[in-house]
Amino acid sequence: MYKKETISIHAGQKPDEKTGARAEPIYMTTAYVFKNADEAAKRFSLEQEGNIYTRLTNPNNTSLETKLAAIEGGTAAITTSSGMAAISYAVLALTNPGDEIVSADNLYGGTYEFFNLTLPNFGRKVRFVNSSDLTALKNAVSEKTRAVYFEALGNPKLDIPDFEAVAKIAHDAGVPFIVDNTIGIGTVQPLKHGADIVVLSATKYANGHGNSLAGAIVESGKFPWDNGKFPKFTEPDSAYGGLRHYQTFGKSTVSTSIRISLMRDLGATLSPFNAWLTSMGLETLYLRVERHAQNALAVAKHLENHEKVAWVNYPGLENHPSAKNRDKYFEGFGGPLLTFGVKGGYDAAVRVQNNVKLISLLANIGDTRTLIIHPASTTHQQLTKEEQKSTGVTEETIRLSVGLENSDDIIADLDYALSFA
Ligand SMILES: *Cc1c(COP(=O)(O)O)cnc(C)c1O
Repeated sequence: MYKKETISIHAGQKPDEKTGARAEPIYMTTAYVFKNADEAAKRFSLEQEGNIYTRLTNPNNTSLETKLAAIEGGTAAITTSSGMAAISYAVLALTNPGDEIVSADNLYGGTYEFFNLTLPNFGRKVRFVNSSDLTALKNAVSEKTRAVYFEALGNPKLDIPDFEAVAKIAHDAGVPFIVDNTIGIGTVQPLKHGADIVVLSATKYANGHGNSLAGAIVESGKFPWDNGKFPKFTEPDSAYGGLRHYQTFGKSTVSTSIRISLMRDLGATLSPFNAWLTSMGLETLYLRVERHAQNALAVAKHLENHEKVAWVNYPGLENHPSAKNRDKYFEGFGGPLLTFGVKGGYDAAVRVQNNVKLISLLANIGDTRTLIIHPASTTHQQLTKEEQKSTGVTEETIRLSVGLENSDDIIADLDYALSFA
């Protein structure tokens, strides 16, 4: 077994057999030729593995799936056209109308709206609990629960869950623990700490260069899907001659089941070109996450002593509320994101945002470039003050996604912008 840096480069990709190309060719094709009618029939009935149509599989997507499964320490994965597609498919695959999910409340805005407004239209209810209240979590889990859902690092709250404690609550209730590891990839492997499914927006740190959307679902291969709560995985599937997914696919039940049902029917397939870009980004994952964290720590320490700054929230700082979980699960790294409060409040924070030069004002994270946003006037403007507070947003909060530039240049740009605060 190779070490993690080696895995991120080599997993899923060998030199091309036909041409010898060392880097991966891009397979921009919609469909694949069958040798004959017999082979075609066997592929459609799943008796023979192989490509049929790119909505289901493509060599670039397969290689990215192998790489992501290896990086996350899982047994199988399926890529999707975006992080939101991954989250939707994971939740829809595990639930039926009438079922419930229990979720932490500190979610990415898109996920929060999906859980809060869209999923109820599909007959699924999500119960939100405070991300640091394990008692509330335990009390919210019921006979109707089919999954417990957390993010590896709340954003912009920047809190790290106690993965093992949450996993125990989920497993005691006979349901899987799903972790959105978008921000934690390369720093933490939730599947090694009790999670059963990882969902990813590979758009962010997996790709790392801000050039394409991608998503993925990775499974641990350990969850006992035959405990009576997941009939879609254990009952005969009439679309494939009565095939039972868990009995047939075992450790790749979740990803294969999604591929042959939700992906086949709803079609949020990842473009092979985006898969190729994401795979290339992953080759430098561990270099990048380390430098993101070093730069973020340098910026956090500088801002802590800045006269215009009221407070700094960075999980890498010594006395951070998540210090214990950081040391236990994040190998001591504080991650790539930080928030800080500008003393002059809402208007001063907006002025800082307006006066950066090197740093980009935009709604994204996980780029090589440093990014800034004032959540109260942008990403979180539609939330009530109370909802804002529960996600870690106040009027004076600024969020930085610290990039890979030299930290001196990032700090100089912030000093300049803060002179307008
Ligand atoms: C961006 C993001 C998503 C959504 O991913 P897309 O690729 O934009 O669809 C989900 N979860 C987290 C934590 C994110 O940051």
